[in-house]
Amino acid sequence: MTHLTNADLHCHSVVSDGTLTPEELAPRAKTNGVELWALTDHDEVGGQERAAAAARQVGLPYLTGAEISVTFANVTVHIVGLGFDPTDRALVNGLRQTRGGREERARQMGVELARAGIPGAFEGAMKYVGNPDLISRSHFARYIVESGHCPDTNAVFRKYLAEGKPGFVPHRWANLGDAVKWITGAGGVAVIAHPARYKFTANEEFALFNEFRAHGGRGVEVVTGAHSQADYVKYAEFCSEFGLLASRGSDFHSPDESHTDLGKLPDLPGGVTPVWSLLESRIQ
Ligand code: AMP
Ligand code: MN
Ligand code: MN
Ligand code: MN
Repeated sequence: MTHLTNADLHCHSVVSDGTLTPEELAPRAKTNGVELWALTDHDEVGGQERAAAAARQVGLPYLTGAEISVTFANVTVHIVGLGFDPTDRALVNGLRQTRGGREERARQMGVELARAGIPGAFEGAMKYVGNPDLISRSHFARYIVESGHCPDTNAVFRKYLAEGKPGFVPHRWANLGDAVKWITGAGGVAVIAHPARYKFTANEEFALFNEFRAHGGRGVEVVTGAHSQADYVKYAEFCSEFGLLASRGSDFHSPDESHTDLGKLPDLPGGVTPVWSLLESRIQ
């Protein structure tokens, strides 16, 4: 399996903040030429059985996945877990705990957005939520577009939902060490998601990679929807600097919102070792 190139190991379904079901995603991935797939819903493994079954149906090799929200140096960082046992108690409990504060945060977002001139946002966002345990900023963004306050979800984040904007409510997520431990303790591999998206200084970024490695993290997304060509080069270099393996994933959420579709990414750059070389025995 290590010779394959079109692995897509990062995307979302209605079980978190995507708009397609696991049963819609699997055939889409297959049609787009994906050779190894993982569904990585935010803080949630409730879609894993459905995704694995849907992948089997279309003959698509599958790895379990999740994207865990972490707070590191007061910044939200995402850690993708791959190839774990989704029934592992510590992992399941850790994810439940991580999801726990989302409803309260969302109610507060509703209050802040009303103050900023958008009433009814909590109720509006709830109409888009597929999993009551997992209300996210994306659901608010869809409602704010629907109600005519912004032309698209990217504009909503820029104006209302990004850090420091009126609808942003700070939140404390899991610890980095705990998230890595939940993943590795369940037999999986931990990967830093889309590192170029974090607003870290060089020192903070170094600390993230160092600590992640020390906790037992093994991979980093090099090729992902949010990365530029320069980011591919930078994080391929980080792979050799920190002894990490490279991952690849679109971070696809929705045909209407995502600019990178499942499997429609450049290959990993030469010289890196794909993270899926560690996961051969975990492929279903
Ligand atoms: P949350 O976990 O509730 O904080 O929501 C985070 C989600 O919001 C991410 O996983 C993305 O799907 C989405 N998101 C974050 N920033 C942006 C952005 N600038 N543009 C579009 N979507 C974004
Ligand atoms: Mn998301
Ligand atoms: Mn993410
Ligand atoms: Mn994601």
